[in-house]
Amino acid sequence: MLDLVIRGGQVVTPQGVGTWDVGVEGERIVAVTGPGTLPAEAGRVVDATGKLVIPGGIDPHVHTHWPIPALGGGFTTSAPPEQVSRAAVCGGTTTLVDFAVWEPGMTIARAIDDKEAVWRQGYTDHALHVMLQGAVPPDVIAQIPEAIQTGFPSLKIFTTDVRPIGKGRMIRLGHLWAIMETAAKHGGILAIHAEDDDLVMYMYERLEREGRTDIRHMPLVHSAMSEDISFRRVLRLARYVEGAAVYFVHVSAGAGVEAIAEARGEGHAVYGETLHHYATFTAEIYQRPDGVMFHTYPSLKHEEDRERLWRGLANGTLSTVATDELCTPRAIKLRSRHIADATGGHVGVETRVPVIYTEGVSKRGMSLERFVAVTSTNAAKLLGLYPRKGAIAPGSDADVVVFDPTVRRTLRSEDLHGSDYSAWDGWEVHGWPAMVLLRGQVVVENGKLHGRAGDGRRVAGKLGAAIQDGPAL
Ligand SMILES: [Zn+2]
Repeated sequence: MLDLVIRGGQVVTPQGVGTWDVGVEGERIVAVTGPGTLPAEAGRVVDATGKLVIPGGIDPHVHTHWPIPALGGGFTTSAPPEQVSRAAVCGGTTTLVDFAVWEPGMTIARAIDDKEAVWRQGYTDHALHVMLQGAVPPDVIAQIPEAIQTGFPSLKIFTTDVRPIGKGRMIRLGHLWAIMETAAKHGGILAIHAEDDDLVMYMYERLEREGRTDIRHMPLVHSAMSEDISFRRVLRLARYVEGAAVYFVHVSAGAGVEAIAEARGEGHAVYGETLHHYATFTAEIYQRPDGVMFHTYPSLKHEEDRERLWRGLANGTLSTVATDELCTPRAIKLRSRHIADATGGHVGVETRVPVIYTEGVSKRGMSLERFVAVTSTNAAKLLGLYPRKGAIAPGSDADVVVFDPTVRRTLRSEDLHGSDYSAWDGWEVHGWPAMVLLRGQVVVENGKLHGRAGDGRRVAGKLGAAIQDGPAL
């Protein structure tokens, strides 16, 4: 007997969209069939008439339990997985991809173990990128194949220190080349925060000298030019490495979208991520008294960039929408408007799927297939979690969202589960999850959280070969 049947919904599957019934047994989807063809007897039958049935969201870029330095010294730590993943399931995201941070002196395996220890209390499943930094020694680069084989195919790289107080993160071109070659050979992908460090650091110095240190000048520091030049430098390097796959995280500028489009047009395995944050706000908002609350690195850009991000999401140049979640209280975001001291990241895991539905599908006519691709399926494919994750298909994990597109809801941070603020406070969304399943278990229903900390598990990734062969999605 089936444990659960979801009946009558509009189901978004890898084969297209249609009115089908979905059968769940244990943790898996076992059937996607014509209406009324599944046995009437089931543990539970859910009527999804008028609703969408979509795979649980996958957020490919979150930072939990992350140190946030302050210019005056010391640091605070962002929210732990428990808090972030609780907010995520409430908004229809069932898998988060966080970072295992390698520090000089440790092994990659140790970095993974350390982060896994932090992830014991997740409400969602999770995967990890391995973040490398600085002058990565040869013996650590030699550990990359083992990391890939044990389920960690993506390596996070910064081409900039991002902030003057962030020194040590940047990986220079030579080491990047070595890491890229190793990843390419062994089935890995590089997740790159690409900005030109010379330009970024020059602008911090210059604006400091000119007394233009307010957050509203941030787009001059983390500029479209810097994104353009750095993306192209990485892409030029990738041409020399057979099998290199590059995933640019948090694309913020039209110039970044264009660089990706060109490389894809020439057949290179290049993919881009943007944030629902970058797709909904522009740098003008920095002018507000609380404008620093909206900052996340690199920086908000301008209206034309924002429209190019949407076009990129619609036409396939950009593959995913992430959050770059860094969940803190509002007070931490507001503590400094100084360009060198602004806290990045934001609280977005709960709003990501409904905001993209609203702004993409409802207002811009994005197809349902594309909506599911950018909020779930493509992240699964790029990080080797597909088809276990990211699909409504027999054999896939029963991570399912019954999404009600008739809901009209004004977002209020006090109704959300992440923190005491939301950048989307006061925004109206068209649709919200009515039910969320994590591996067959109902974890959210009609706004009530039934899941528990510790429900989540780690998912190992293994890239499909097509991802490295060319622009596969
Ligand atoms: Zn990030």
